[in-house]
Amino acid sequence: MDFGIAGKWALVCGASRGLGLGCARALVGEGVNVLMVARGLETLRQSASKIEADCEGKTGATVQFVAADITTEAGRMAVFAQRADFDIVVTNAGGPPAGNFRDWTRHDWFAAVEANMLTPIELIKATVDGMAARGFGRIVNITSSAVKAPIDILGLSNGARSGLTGFVAGTARSALASSGVTINNLLPGAFDTDRLRAVMQAAAVKAGKSLEVVSEARRQTIPARRFGQPEEFGAICAFLCSQQAGYINGQNILADGGAYPGTF
Ligand code: NAD
Repeated sequence: MDFGIAGKWALVCGASRGLGLGCARALVGEGVNVLMVARGLETLRQSASKIEADCEGKTGATVQFVAADITTEAGRMAVFAQRADFDIVVTNAGGPPAGNFRDWTRHDWFAAVEANMLTPIELIKATVDGMAARGFGRIVNITSSAVKAPIDILGLSNGARSGLTGFVAGTARSALASSGVTINNLLPGAFDTDRLRAVMQAAAVKAGKSLEVVSEARRQTIPARRFGQPEEFGAICAFLCSQQAGYINGQNILADGGAYPGTF
């Protein structure tokens, strides 16, 4: 299937590793020009070069990158100084730390809200009117399955991302919807990334078990009995950005191997 988005420009945040990298790769594979953003320049440069090498000559897409902290005003200004008009924006940044809500200060809450609610909202604000004027736009926010099935130790994530989810539910159904702009959230369950490995490593240390034991126990909680791969997450993201997905709007799409136990 031709997704009909070759030649469009995408901003992909948190793109040097993990799910963001999977999304950047899938979009470039569809011929989309991608501006990749992450904080660490060297990893970002290597990831961009790898995508370029893998896709070289196949799609003709351009890959650019900016090393910036997307959760700061200065970081976003650096990105928009490079390019302002995007047809596709994938919002993403690191998730807040796990912990006990009794230990979290107002500073911890502000940091989580800044990264996982206000940053996507700022990116949406900066780009959707241009998309609407051009008659096409796709926003995909990488959130978490914890929005649908909250995990107690991830309260900072549950709270901040639920705020974003409420904002998106309203904004996606505004006048933007009749101008070809869709805004959806893509909710990862357990995907095989550095973040998942770090979370499981911390759990292993806390429980006095090996990483293998903790990781196998987690796999057994997933009906698919495996972790997702960033490439398959990227493919879902690319589809949500396609012309064909123009009638999917304001949705929370779970990719979790069947782990969420509800009917809806
Ligand atoms: P990851 O740690 O593997 O990769 C995160 C990427 O974001 C890296 O490229 C990193 O450099 C970049 N990044 C982090 N903070 C940034 C910032 N402030 N500015 C710019 N770039 C930044 O993480 P991942 O597993 O790919 O997760 C992506 C998002 O999905 C996170 O918010 C995470 O909490 C969420 N999530 C992941 C899983 C999973 O199983 N992997 C599950 C649920 C939710």
